[in-house]
Amino acid sequence: MREIIILGSTGSIGTQAIEVCQNNGYKVTGLAAGSNIKLLEKQARQLNPLYVACSDQNAANELKIKLKDTSIKVLSGPDGVCELATIKGDTVLNAIVGIAGLRPTLAAVNAGKNVALANKETLVAGGDIVKKAVAENKVSLLPVDSEHSAIFQSLQGVPNGSISKILLTASGGPFYAKKAKDLENVTKNEALKHPNWSMGAKITIDSATLMNKGLEVIEAVHLFQIKPDDIEVLVHRQSIVHSAIELTDGAVIAQLGTPDMKLPIQYALTYPNRAGLCGKRLSLTDIGTLTFEKPDTKTFRCLPVCINAIKEGGLKPAAANGANEQAVKLFLEGKIKFLQIAELVEAATIAQPTVKGYSLTDVLEADRSAREYVLKNM
Ligand code: NDP
Repeated sequence: MREIIILGSTGSIGTQAIEVCQNNGYKVTGLAAGSNIKLLEKQARQLNPLYVACSDQNAANELKIKLKDTSIKVLSGPDGVCELATIKGDTVLNAIVGIAGLRPTLAAVNAGKNVALANKETLVAGGDIVKKAVAENKVSLLPVDSEHSAIFQSLQGVPNGSISKILLTASGGPFYAKKAKDLENVTKNEALKHPNWSMGAKITIDSATLMNKGLEVIEAVHLFQIKPDDIEVLVHRQSIVHSAIELTDGAVIAQLGTPDMKLPIQYALTYPNRAGLCGKRLSLTDIGTLTFEKPDTKTFRCLPVCINAIKEGGLKPAAANGANEQAVKLFLEGKIKFLQIAELVEAATIAQPTVKGYSLTDVLEADRSAREYVLKNM
């Protein structure tokens, strides 16, 4: 029986991943979250994993008491989450939000586990070290992000060296067609209203700023060994074409479907096989029209900032990501305005010195100094 460890089990992707595991009869051996022990306890009692972990020490202590009547072991702190990524199980599904997912990803890979990766910040900040560890440990890194899953699905059966371009689709978010003057005073609630997807707060804000698409360009560069200039971002309001590839002969292969993360989550776990999946089926006649446009990179600055960051390489993407995580937190707390997110991300990325190679310590330091830059300049 397949054994899966789910990191970020209490979040939007994590809860859907549990459903996918249950539908496929997979055993969940480990569950990790930040501090939501109410849901984590419920999940633990339902799934009876070997271990659970909370990155928050106090929450872990409380959970230990709550689960005293069970045989489930509770691990605590960021190191406990990393340890959980190495327990019995063949695949770790990482749905932690933010750079907090980087060390657990590396722990899983170094323990010889395949990783189904939703946590895009892992590759954005530490792409080179993650890829090196994946190659050294001969494990697989399978994309969960819907766009990257679509590219991965489209690539099946395509000979190496035949891809000329990636067409990365974007919904355009809640502020599609708005200009900077319209965005000056937008509220948190307006930014949290995604037109097509229901997701965690951080990625929803990233979709509103187009930072999410910038992070995805960087993720695609690492996953598919493609140059940033060979990735074209297209605004596709309907979120039906999840992304596409163009081949050297001009053929374009795409994956289409309703906006439902269970399919990419499941494909990352069943690959190379397919399994049945309940849910709404795509009716192209109901959709009728599919539209594609160029993104407005003048208004939504985060996208070009990320593209430049990955072109420059080194620690620039880690700085862009760290600055964004801090700026989004401040926006959600009502401490900065929407447009300041992009301004701070751009300035913090420029402030990050250019380097060639980097270690995990360098990535964590670039993340820390980008966050500090945002706090000093907000
Ligand atoms: P959520 O905010 O809904 O969930 C985040 C999860 O991470 C929660 O379980 C949270 O626990 C946990 N968590 C937070 N901090 C830590 C930490 N330090 N250590 C361990 N666990 C932690 O996010 P999403 O599910 O929306 O997104 C997760 C990841 O997947 C992100 O990287 C996102 O970009 C990516 N993604 C999400 C998609 C979606 O549809 N939601 C689509 C594609 C990619 P707690 O509840 O206790 O805080």
